Amino acid sequence: MRILLVEDERDLSEALCAFLEKNQFSVDAVYDGAAGYDYATAGEYDAMILDIMLPHLDGIEVLTRLRENGVMLPVMLLTAKGEKDDRILGFDTGADDYLPKPFDPDELLARLRAMLRRSGGYRPSNLTFGDLTLDCGESLLRCGSRSERLSGREFQVMELFMRSPRVILSAERILERVWGWDTEVEINVVWVHISNLRKKLVSVGSTAMIRVSRGLGYALEEKV
Ligand code: CA
Repeated sequence: MRILLVEDERDLSEALCAFLEKNQFSVDAVYDGAAGYDYATAGEYDAMILDIMLPHLDGIEVLTRLRENGVMLPVMLLTAKGEKDDRILGFDTGADDYLPKPFDPDELLARLRAMLRRSGGYRPSNLTFGDLTLDCGESLLRCGSRSERLSGREFQVMELFMRSPRVILSAERILERVWGWDTEVEINVVWVHISNLRKKLVSVGSTAMIRVSRGLGYALEEKV
């Protein structure tokens, strides 16, 4: 699940990014309304967390423009104000949820998950392929009685494969989906994560493997 976070308070943004990433979301953070609008229209996101009080364009304007342009991404509005009028304005503009600051991160997470469930984008708790199960709650790769714990990024890479088995994914595509397209991360970080996942697949004794197609990319397949 990829989340776009538009919040100009750097400390809050960093804390939310860390919290959401710990909970298996990929997050792109931007710090003003104009960037938020550009990212929301250009990127592939499952949901947007949008502050109302922002530089350049405020959250209500961003949301209004998105809806006018047919971008139906689920949006949770955040605001320091919390007055009733803001809430009504937010819902009228097409927000899916509204959370007044200060809030408990666990409440944000619960509401975000509920919002994603309503939009039909929430992932099931487990994904399976052949004899392999990816436990999304625990970040575990399981096969029979054996399991391996995955790091946050390993989990996200594995989730991509489990959602598109037998499809060749290029390293660039994986980098974009998991690390975000504005990243400074080098492509070899993808190779390292794939290498770790291949070792873990062997370690749990699965018949599933990540096949390398030189020059093309990687695909999750069953050994024949
Ligand atoms: Ca703000």
